[in-house]
Amino acid sequence: MHKKLIGRRDFMKSTLAGVGGLFFLPSSEWKHEIKIVESRGKEKKFVYRTLGKTGLKLPVINMGVMLTDNPSLIRAALDSGILLLDTAHGYMQGRNEETIGGVIKGRHRDSFYIATKIGLPQNRTTGLYLEGATTEEFLKRLDISLKRLGLDHVDILYQHGVSRKESVMYEPILKAFEQAKKAGKIRFSGVSTHSNEPEVIDAVTDSKIHDVILTAYTFKQKHYQEVKKAIARASAEGLGIVGMKAVRGAFQQQPTTQNIVASFKWILQDPNVHTVIAGFTTFEHLETDLAIMNDLTLTDQEKLELQKEASIQGLYCQGCRQCIGQCPEKLPIPDLMRAYMYTYDYRNVAHAQDLIGLLDLPNRVCEDCSFCRVKCAIDFNIPKKIRDVARLKDVPSLT
Ligand code: SF4
Ligand code: SF4
Repeated sequence: MHKKLIGRRDFMKSTLAGVGGLFFLPSSEWKHEIKIVESRGKEKKFVYRTLGKTGLKLPVINMGVMLTDNPSLIRAALDSGILLLDTAHGYMQGRNEETIGGVIKGRHRDSFYIATKIGLPQNRTTGLYLEGATTEEFLKRLDISLKRLGLDHVDILYQHGVSRKESVMYEPILKAFEQAKKAGKIRFSGVSTHSNEPEVIDAVTDSKIHDVILTAYTFKQKHYQEVKKAIARASAEGLGIVGMKAVRGAFQQQPTTQNIVASFKWILQDPNVHTVIAGFTTFEHLETDLAIMNDLTLTDQEKLELQKEASIQGLYCQGCRQCIGQCPEKLPIPDLMRAYMYTYDYRNVAHAQDLIGLLDLPNRVCEDCSFCRVKCAIDFNIPKKIRDVARLKDVPSLT
């Protein structure tokens, strides 16, 4: 008896509609405006959206500066039509903000937007703030950031790396936001999250305090449907939504140009994502990202590739936090796994080391257990990965 062969077209159809498969919206459901912008002397077509109640009109791809301190690349991004530069107080121990400060010096203040983030000491296992997390410390860090950037105000200030709803409502930081807004040092406030995102996003929406949410959101997250739902609710309440981590950590190998294009198109088909920040580090990648804004339509081939990648385990943790509380040594496993991703996917060992430096790790990591008591939701060999990356704490500073 012959097996019935399935044609390519039928295979594509059944795969794209498969149970538990990724969602793909028809282009009639996207919301955006097309603008012709001048991009380094050439006219280019960019897709624009409005960042919720902030009213900021932004191209759908902007720059996450985290991975580069190359002023020429940041300058090229602004000259190409990118409007928002996203950084953080802690990136490159301050050098990231200083580099941006040098680039924007002398540019008209209305020609760009700056977002930065401030984190305060947290218990990395519980995600709750520690004693040193005070209003004064937050405001002191903001003043340092403004000085590095050479600005009297930033457009968006985020509370950095929140993973618990209790931390969204942490009184000393809310007070600091209020004082900073009153003093004119920030235009809009927000929260950034790359772990336990749905809970954090819902808490921000319920608080009715902030203007913007910066969230990890990728086709690779097992819980992306919950992130999608939380974003939809936040956006309906007027919050601006900025997506991040759309590409990194999602692929088995270093992402190819096709991988990058498909991942950004996937996140941007969600009309509730108003813009994404792209962490490009080369001029070639900048050009790739700019070209995406010409047409967000996912091809069948791109859909298939995303489906395929979504169905395999992958190499990197997506921050579901289901391992929290399982390790008797109370190791901050999702943070360590993120450092692993910075090392092997981002290839940015210095950034991984900066993160490791915040974690207050014991001298011996995972060396005294005869077996690991932690069960990863997607079956990663946790001790192998974290033992590997924890070695960075013993290496002299790379920044
Ligand atoms: S290590 Fe596994 S269980 Fe823990 S956050 Fe990552 S994916 Fe989830
Ligand atoms: S081996 Fe597992 S249980 Fe032991 S310290 Fe490492 S993560 Fe925790």
